[in-house]
Amino acid sequence: MKIWANSGDSHYMEPADLYSNGLPKELAERMPRSVKAEDGSSETIYVDGKSFTRDMPKISTVVGKGGKTLTQALEAPGSKDIDIRQADLDQEGIWAELIYPSVGLWNAMITDPVLAREAVKVANDWAVEVQSKSVRHVMPAQISPLDVQDAVDEVLRMAGKGIKAINLPCSTPKDIPDFNRPYWNPLWDVMHETEMVIAVHTGAGGEDPVAFHGPGAGTVNYLWASYSGMTMAALMAASGILDTRPGLKLIISEAGATWVPFVGDRLNEAYRQHSDFIRDNLTRTPKEILYDQVYASFQHDETAVQALTAMGYNNVMWGSDYPHIEGTFGHTQKTLHELFDDEPESVRYRITQGAFLECFPHVGTPPLQGIE
Ligand code: MN
Repeated sequence: MKIWANSGDSHYMEPADLYSNGLPKELAERMPRSVKAEDGSSETIYVDGKSFTRDMPKISTVVGKGGKTLTQALEAPGSKDIDIRQADLDQEGIWAELIYPSVGLWNAMITDPVLAREAVKVANDWAVEVQSKSVRHVMPAQISPLDVQDAVDEVLRMAGKGIKAINLPCSTPKDIPDFNRPYWNPLWDVMHETEMVIAVHTGAGGEDPVAFHGPGAGTVNYLWASYSGMTMAALMAASGILDTRPGLKLIISEAGATWVPFVGDRLNEAYRQHSDFIRDNLTRTPKEILYDQVYASFQHDETAVQALTAMGYNNVMWGSDYPHIEGTFGHTQKTLHELFDDEPESVRYRITQGAFLECFPHVGTPPLQGIE
């Protein structure tokens, strides 16, 4: 029996000539690009005059059923071709996806407001085109995190073109007011009014992703990347931004799910026990706000289902992370069966489809329910 799922965490590779076609040359050459080392051992990301290098996986490692190497998995044909992608989705049992950009996730490193404003317009027009091909592709638009008026204008432009979500970085660039500052209130208001879902991919726009070096560093850096998404959600809950706009929904992708009860407990203790020092006035506790308005996507986490069944957190959302190596491409059905075979139908439905549908009701349900 095939389990159909929506994915709250997927990726698509922008065309290599997206910015060279859409931007003047002097802007296009400063956009994010990845240059692989000749021996394939590392890649360097260049963005707007800055760069950093990270190790690449060994290509001999085998992942997934069918014995795909990491390189083959990363080259899943549907990662660059939206028509082929649907065959991959059908095979894996994935109906609709929230599809993040790939190199666009580095856009938060841009420091020139003109470059940021013009680049997201080009990327977003492409996202609109991709989304128009199928109701299964939910493409979040990007905004400039450098100027609130540019961001508001782009949200309105995208709402007019049928975009349902806005992709924000986990934090604002250096020297720009943090997201909890009143400076950004017009952005929250316009997203609330246009019913945009806030889509945040953990790690993007957070601290340096290569925080540690040496033994264990690669594993711990992956954990490190998930903190930025948790912190972003905590700030949105504690600041009152979500509390005063109860229709606003925030998805934190690829940081797991059990952090939500944990972070909620930490915030509640501070809010309650430090009430003499904390002057924020919320109508609900921070944990209630997180539980109501924040959705969290995971791929494999063994304890994620229990965030719902044992800790009362209903907004657990599954995600494939297609086509990334942390994702489930090649073994999606095995993973879904391991997660849900011992769970009630209502739990499986909520995590694989219901939570996603609450954010994006327009995607509907898969044509094939249950037996294939
Ligand atoms: Mn991801």
